[in-house]
This record gives sequence, C-alpha cells and structure tokens, in this order.
Amino acid sequence: MHCPFCHAHDTKVIDSRLVADGHQVRRRRECLHCHERFTTFETAELVMPKVVKSNGNREPFHEEKLRSGIQRALEKRPVSADDIEQGLNRIMSALRATGEREVESSYVGNLVMEELKQLDKVAYVRFASVYRSFKDLREFEQEIAKLEK
Ligand SMILES: [Zn+2]
Repeated sequence: MHCPFCHAHDTKVIDSRLVADGHQVRRRRECLHCHERFTTFETAELVMPKVVKSNGNREPFHEEKLRSGIQRALEKRPVSADDIEQGLNRIMSALRATGEREVESSYVGNLVMEELKQLDKVAYVRFASVYRSFKDLREFEQEIAKLEK
C-alpha cells in the first residue's frame, strides 16, 4: 500500500502478527522512500450486503426481519429453534460469501425458500405463496406437485 506520509508506492512489511484472538493481522510497514513506519490492521470484512428491493430502494440487511419472516412461515411447525438458527446462519453465510455490497431482495428470498424447503415443506409453501404471490391457483398447485415428487 502507499505510504501515508510521502505517498510513495513501495512500502515493505517489517513485522506481521495475529492480534484480537487471531481475527486480525497487525502489520508494521516501512516506506522504502522516506523510511517512515506505520501500522496497518487487516480484518475479514463480514458486513452483510445491502438489500435492493424490487422498487429499487436499498435497505440495510436486518437479521431480525429475516428471522421473523422465517419464524412466521414455520409457525406451529415441528422445527426446533436450533434448526431455525442454523438455517438463518446458512442464509447469512451465503449472503456474505457473495462478496457483493448489494444483493437483490429476490436473491435473499430464494435463499430463504431453499432453506425452508429443507426444513419443512409446509413452511416452504406458506412462504412461497406469499413471497412469489402466485398469479393463480394453478401455479400454486404446480409448486406443490413439484414438492410431492
Ligand atoms: Zn514514505
């Protein structure tokens, strides 16, 4: 990286160590040009991407909103709180793994549907019927027929 003092392009790492329980790398660097030393910290970027709604609005990712949506679909279904949390974590990991700053809300919706399909078929159909707002009964029946295969 560039030297913050003289903006020279070449700096070298003179020391590198793990800090914060291994969640961060601290590097001492020296500018090859002015010989000033400075420190950089490197951490994995675990921010969730923003969600782009179908109307084009952007909103921050809300874990609580996602959780309550999933819980609503799973209401009175035989799925444990642990399984719900694991599903939620898989969805969030998948979103982080995109490395994108923004994702379409439909992308999030599809991840939720895939997860619900594994957790509970009834919940899946509940969620899909609201989320996809099936145009007609026929489309809805087709979706259910697919599940029964
Ligand atoms: Zn410099």
